[in-house]
Amino acid sequence: LIRFDKVTKRFGGNTVLDSLDFTVSSGKHVTLIGPSGSGKTTILRLLMTLIKPDEGTIKVGGEYLTHEDRGGSLVPAGEKHVREVRKHIGMVFQQFNLFPNMKVMRNITEAPMHVLGLSRDEAEERARELLDLVDLTEHADKYPTQLSGGQQQRVAIARALAMRPQVLLLDEVTSALDPELVAGVLDVLRDIAHSTDITMLCVTHEMNFARDISDDVLMFDAGRVIESGSPEKIFSEPDHERTRQFLSAVL
Ligand code: ATP
Repeated sequence: LIRFDKVTKRFGGNTVLDSLDFTVSSGKHVTLIGPSGSGKTTILRLLMTLIKPDEGTIKVGGEYLTHEDRGGSLVPAGEKHVREVRKHIGMVFQQFNLFPNMKVMRNITEAPMHVLGLSRDEAEERARELLDLVDLTEHADKYPTQLSGGQQQRVAIARALAMRPQVLLLDEVTSALDPELVAGVLDVLRDIAHSTDITMLCVTHEMNFARDISDDVLMFDAGRVIESGSPEKIFSEPDHERTRQFLSAVL
């Protein structure tokens, strides 16, 4: 479903991703781990088309995100093409990024109505199902500031899912939360991972969560995947010394 092919990204003279290849199959839950600055968030930002790669191609759902195929030759993707491919991707950020002037319900219905063309009734019905899923049924009429950080993050998860994405990108979604609120958010994500067929790509420092939900864990260092495998393998018997060092520092 996601394919990075020889993707290089530089910021100034700093090569953040170095001819990176990796794939995520449909329905899989893949976690990216690795030291700070190793390029994990850059991968999610490339997928959200917030930034562009310097070299290489990225495909989502069989379509190029970075390019358009014009009669067999690849040209850089135009805005319209990018928007179409990006519709398959939902993202939850570290800092919830809810619309502060809209109530919870409207935060969730806004994009499905304007981007997918759902009627208000359809969008609200879907939003109610999602609020139930994230355990916030009682809070539909509140503004984001009336909620705790954990509740706001659960609204952000519902909002991302309302677009029925094929892929959900999660960027350190608990790192801005007070410790006692982390578990509620992770429980919701575990539920979604186990009860839906959505593909997930997560960057997280929560190793227990990574162990619980991941089919595959990719260990990054200096813009490359240095090792990948099942969570049992990576967390219990990694091959790479760098992985051992990293895990002993964070576990
Ligand atoms: P962390 O776990 O700390 O979030 P990360 O593995 O997600 O780290 P990235 O955020 O992908 O790392 O950043 C990788 C490198 O790219 C870092 O050295 C960072 O300083 C650099 N970088 C990221 N974005 C930019 C930017 N817009 N301009 C310049 N340098 C950047």
